[in-house]
Amino acid sequence: MSRLLVIGCGGVAKVAIHKCCQNSGVFKELCIASRTKEKCDGVKQELEGKTETVITTAQVNADDKEELVKLIRSYRPDTVLNVALPYQDLTLMDACLECGVDYVDTANYEPENTDDPEWRAIYEKRCQEEGFTAYFDYSWQWAYKEKFEKAGLTALLGSGFDPGVTSVFSAYALKHYFDEIETIDILDCNGGDHGYPFATNFNPEINLREVSANGSYWENGHWVETKPMEIKREYDFPQVGKKDMYLLHHEEIESLAKNIPGVKRIRFFMTFGQSYLTHMKCLENVGMLSTSPIEFEGKEIVPIQFLKALLPDPASLGPRTVGKTNIGCIFHGKKDGKEKTIYIYNVCDHQECYREVGSQAISYTTGVPAMIGTALVASGQWKKPGVFNVEEFDPDPFMDMLNQYGLPWVVEENPAVVE
Ligand code: NDP
Repeated sequence: MSRLLVIGCGGVAKVAIHKCCQNSGVFKELCIASRTKEKCDGVKQELEGKTETVITTAQVNADDKEELVKLIRSYRPDTVLNVALPYQDLTLMDACLECGVDYVDTANYEPENTDDPEWRAIYEKRCQEEGFTAYFDYSWQWAYKEKFEKAGLTALLGSGFDPGVTSVFSAYALKHYFDEIETIDILDCNGGDHGYPFATNFNPEINLREVSANGSYWENGHWVETKPMEIKREYDFPQVGKKDMYLLHHEEIESLAKNIPGVKRIRFFMTFGQSYLTHMKCLENVGMLSTSPIEFEGKEIVPIQFLKALLPDPASLGPRTVGKTNIGCIFHGKKDGKEKTIYIYNVCDHQECYREVGSQAISYTTGVPAMIGTALVASGQWKKPGVFNVEEFDPDPFMDMLNQYGLPWVVEENPAVVE
């Protein structure tokens, strides 16, 4: 049926590829292309003989549109799944448009160099107009809407867990449980322990930038910005237990504020242990989280990229990580004139993920929905011309596939709420 080109071969990609190979009815052929071809060959070797999906590999620099166009023209995929980094979103969308191919990703665009004056001018204008200072936002990719419509192509944005599953949970809650959703609290809890003093569960650059930035939430039609880690709450997570969590800015707040009609408040909380926060603060204070290049012994280096080289590779955490994640959303609103609160969440066990696909739960919870969104576009169920966030489609087939492909979810009525 369908031919897929996967760009990137890190933690998330590996799970997405495993899951595509479990769904070989949709994904007949798959090419893994990334910066380091050996990693692609490694994943191909792991899977060959265990799947009917025919796998090939290629080397590509996804920052280079011409290289991408050449690869897409030679492989002729129906869909491109971008599980490289958010830096490559726009070059990949451009290449897909040029070649007439559908596009799926898991994270919205952010620039690699936030000191680039051209990008900075647009960013500063947006900060003033919109009121949040995160380096990433949807405006860059939403600007492609008309181009994708005209080309008759689909771009599906943010098909990971958060964004992704949390956004589909929101569409599902609205479709089946509410006439009107008033508030959404997205709670991302990682109760896993990898035994290192400090490591990040996914790409360190992306992770540390997100966590060290100002927080913000959406309330009554505008953004409220907070200092990093300013708002702290404790929550007792089903199957994980009590954890401290902190309010962060997160990209799905932006799209849900637009796509969930009448929503009054959306907040995002993530759990962090004290040791993680102390390490991060120290690294930040000494300048190791900076994305601005510095000169060191005659060579230009970017501090956060150097730090990445020192930290454990997130893909290597799998065998060491024990415990569970619990990610979901608490919705409050009205149904038939009555107040109502529900909590939809998934619990995922790090070791079970490792046994199944050789990865920890953070990569797993992102890779599974990346496959599902791609399958729904490739099979035509979620195919329409334009640029869309996942909550803009019918949530039901996605929710069914979550159960089928390893991320079963629970709906709890009247849960404890976050103050
Ligand atoms: P990794 O760093 O593990 O993997 C990134 C991969 O992309 C690597 O294989 C890397 O190559 C490749 N890559 C990077 N730059 C290029 C380039 N210029 N050309 C070709 N390949 C390139 O990241 P993760 O797997 O942890 O994350 C992947 C994506 O998933 C990110 O965008 C991240 O933000 C997103 N994500 C989304 C989540 C969600 O819930 N929505 C949660 C977690 C992550 P190499 O191997 O050579 O380094």
